[in-house]
Amino acid sequence: MRTRILPTTALLALTGALLAVPASSAQLITAASTEICYTPQASTGAAAKGGRGNDTREISATEQSAIEARTAAILKAKRERGSGIPQGALAAANVPVYVHVMAAANGAGNVTDQQIADQISVLNKTFAGQESSAAANTGLTFTLAGTDRFYNDTWHTDGDTTTYRSQTRKGGANALNIWLVDFSYLGIATFPWDYSRNPSIDGIRVDYASLPGGSATNYDLGETATHEAGHWFGLYHTFQGGCTKRNDEVADTPAQSSSTNGCPEGRDSCRLAGLDPIHNYMDYSYDTCYNQFTPGQSTRMSDNWVAYRA
Ligand SMILES: [Zn+2]
Repeated sequence: MRTRILPTTALLALTGALLAVPASSAQLITAASTEICYTPQASTGAAAKGGRGNDTREISATEQSAIEARTAAILKAKRERGSGIPQGALAAANVPVYVHVMAAANGAGNVTDQQIADQISVLNKTFAGQESSAAANTGLTFTLAGTDRFYNDTWHTDGDTTTYRSQTRKGGANALNIWLVDFSYLGIATFPWDYSRNPSIDGIRVDYASLPGGSATNYDLGETATHEAGHWFGLYHTFQGGCTKRNDEVADTPAQSSSTNGCPEGRDSCRLAGLDPIHNYMDYSYDTCYNQFTPGQSTRMSDNWVAYRA
């Protein structure tokens, strides 16, 4: 999930938005609707959210441990059968991408084919580590496999979300489905370990205005899709778990107490080692601030790919 970071007063008024505050004042905030806004809580080590509605669920520290154990067991079994990849190696995969343009009846949100092509280019550039010398090349590449367009006011605003995704999703576990909608989030993703129990809604929902050339100020370079795809490959936020050693299960992304707004160089929100990874695609910084996945994240995505999507 990725939300626009707004001034606190505006954010509190934004129904369903995810509010990030320092862990010292972390709390669950219930918005006016049934949405529950989540703030990382260092004390419990909870939780990740992969979506909302039927695929909203918070991952407790206990479940997080169970997911890690399950993934490790699957990888071990695959290696023993000779169908996995060697430990430490990266899976090179070309991911077919199906883009579903959920436009309004009046054509709002009907992004151009060029914007979609540019979005695919951004995915390829960011996952290849081309935005920073410190960035990892994940070995994951993307090819547009199809585009379809719908003109439905309900679907356009992510209404009947389970239905429309089930009716329009294409491909298998390895296919990245991107639904372009207009909602109060920048994006929401499903996790790879949830595919088997709910394959028909697997994929990412992205605000159409976040595509390259879109109107989402500070979030208009297409890197929301990179962030959501990161979840789809099994990454948590870099602020998952707050100031805990375990944090996001990735060793080379220093812990941070909360999500980042803008691009505050030198931010250091935890006493644990390392500055906050504000340039990481799995933080909430501006698109212009994003420039990297780490080698550890690259390995985690590869492992989850082999375990659940290959
Ligand atoms: Zn997210």
